Amino acid sequence: MTIELINTQKTLSRTQIKLADYAINPYKGCEFGCAYCYAQKNKNLRREGSANLGVKINAPETLEKELRYKNPRRVLLGSTTECFPRVEPQYRVTEKILEILNRNSIPYTILTKSDVINGYLHLIRENHLNKIYFTFNFDSNKIIKIFENSSPDLARRQETIKNIIAGGIDLRVHVGPYIPRISHLAGIFSLIPANVQEVDVELYHHEMGNFREILKRVEANLPAGDKEEINRIYKNKQNYTAFAQALKDELKELKQEYPFKIFYLVPEYGKFYTPEMDYESPLRDDNFADKR
Ligand code: SF4
Repeated sequence: MTIELINTQKTLSRTQIKLADYAINPYKGCEFGCAYCYAQKNKNLRREGSANLGVKINAPETLEKELRYKNPRRVLLGSTTECFPRVEPQYRVTEKILEILNRNSIPYTILTKSDVINGYLHLIRENHLNKIYFTFNFDSNKIIKIFENSSPDLARRQETIKNIIAGGIDLRVHVGPYIPRISHLAGIFSLIPANVQEVDVELYHHEMGNFREILKRVEANLPAGDKEEINRIYKNKQNYTAFAQALKDELKELKQEYPFKIFYLVPEYGKFYTPEMDYESPLRDDNFADKR
């Protein structure tokens, strides 16, 4: 992986994602290189080649300056990158940012799938309003290897989830994006560690992720017919809605077996972004029907 140290003019950016009012991305690009990554669509965020990572080395200093005139209510960490890449212990950019946010009593929500976060749980637990969304969207290591270049395997993710719970930190397991024929609900749920309180399932948004690349990898690695089925589901709004309904029915069945609260998120078909996506509404009968 090629590492480049870069300077940033701005660390705190306004976000439309309904999890916070500001976002911070301490790195540019991402070493995990997920085939479905929504950030790849944004040419301002993309690095040439998935093995190229920009370290925003001055991000903590610019954050300190911005906090003199910006007043975030909550900050989202990792909307377009992984905040805890393998090199974080070396550059300590995210660590310093967490320390600054803690000092200023600004709560944050972290999106991650990295076990490197284990080394920072003592900081994250300093503010009880902090929350971690931890991604667990596949049920096999083979699938992880096919669709994510270098992310942690299932065992390391399960261990990390257990550590977050043991640390008393607010946690949501994020089953997203849920990609038809690649993600398998029952298998994923069976691997979620005990004592998880919240799980959300977010259906893959083909307008945002790299649909062609996903189909290419499906064709090369998965059973014949899977590619055609994924294509069929996303071909039109009717098929997509039918799949979303079937997945919802499956979720309602599984809900009987598992103690955690379930949230279900269905991006609007054909829209690049669905700003009204409500991360706080638990699974209920009408939680996507009105948005079709
Ligand atoms: S970990 Fe997140 S930001 Fe990184 S490539 Fe995967 S989806 Fe994109």
